[in-house]
Amino acid sequence: MANGWHFFMNPGPTNIPDRILRAMDRATMDFTGAQFKAISDECFAGLQRVFKTKNPILGYAATGHGAWEAALVNLFSPGDKVLIVESGYFSMNWGLRAEAFGLQVETLPNDWRRAADPAKLEARLREDKSHEIKAVLAVHNETSTGVMHPVAAMRKAIDAAGHPALFCVDVISSLGSFDFRMDEWGVDVVVVGSQKGLMLPTGMAFTGVSAKAIAACAVAKLPRVYWDWQRLLGQAAGQGYWNGTVPVHFFYGLREALRMLEEEGLDNVFARHHRLAEATRRAVRTWRRNDGPEVFAIDPDGQSDTVTAVLLPDGQDADTLRQVCLDKFNVSLGGGLGSLKGRLFRIGHLGDVNEAMILGTLGAVEMALELSGVPHGKGGVAAAMEYLVSEA
Ligand code: PLP
Repeated sequence: MANGWHFFMNPGPTNIPDRILRAMDRATMDFTGAQFKAISDECFAGLQRVFKTKNPILGYAATGHGAWEAALVNLFSPGDKVLIVESGYFSMNWGLRAEAFGLQVETLPNDWRRAADPAKLEARLREDKSHEIKAVLAVHNETSTGVMHPVAAMRKAIDAAGHPALFCVDVISSLGSFDFRMDEWGVDVVVVGSQKGLMLPTGMAFTGVSAKAIAACAVAKLPRVYWDWQRLLGQAAGQGYWNGTVPVHFFYGLREALRMLEEEGLDNVFARHHRLAEATRRAVRTWRRNDGPEVFAIDPDGQSDTVTAVLLPDGQDADTLRQVCLDKFNVSLGGGLGSLKGRLFRIGHLGDVNEAMILGTLGAVEMALELSGVPHGKGGVAAAMEYLVSEA
């Protein structure tokens, strides 16, 4: 079944709006010339407004994994200790990469269904009297679970403990979709990729770096070349914070994406994401009746405005349901990652998404629940519509 539009409703990569595709549909230009410099300057200035920072932002031809790695190799020396705030598959994977580079990784345990508790972070940092922990690593929006984590409160916890650790935050599935403030929230390193809230193809990644992070980079001993922030900062004047050939087409697209975000206004973008997320949650809460599926994220304050992970009742296979959605209705959903494979599916409601797309997706899921014999309450789509009408 491939008639009509393919509804690509994974939580990243996301839909690429036509405006961005059209902006990328043009000839290559010399990345060392003045014409390109004007484009890249506009992009980095726009990114600073989205990151809400005056700090430099460095870019790479890479996915989010590259930006994760860049943060690790620039900040640390072998044997350094980092504290990972457990949130799910992605926090775990950032930690695994840190281990691969010879860092000591301590995990601050947390139930994947709940937002991290800043009080636990404060207590752990207070115990670390010798300041062995060099950095706290956290994921703002854990894409594998649909749980948002309280970054501003974590910053307060680090300060309350009087601990000098660097604070590094992965905003890969939150930036440009809900509130994030690098400078106000005292984040030292921000990690992001192009393919979610920025609505671009996959393959470009960025890190925002505070003065404290740049100072840490100057003494960090892990080997690095491509990712080296000092190198990138040194060339800032000439090549727009880039190493090697600059992927100019990404910059054409990025400039358009930033213009789109600013035309809509970031606050309106955030409000739209919240509205669509809430409509999705209301549908799932209705399906929950008759012992049906439920929102994986338990705390209302921790329910993500970019992705809803939907946990199926025991004995039901989420991947079968996803396959029905794809085969019968041409709707693609995200699957469960790692230990959650088959247990849940994920609806992405981030980037270039509107009410009709969400209702179409929820309609496909509700039909797939019926067709797959998954117990559920009927009327999820109607509940979503009722909410969207009340908010219109
Ligand atoms: N961190 C989070 C929160 C993510 O959602 C993802 C990807 O979905 C990653 C890291 C990894 O990024 P990438 O797949 O771009 O390498």
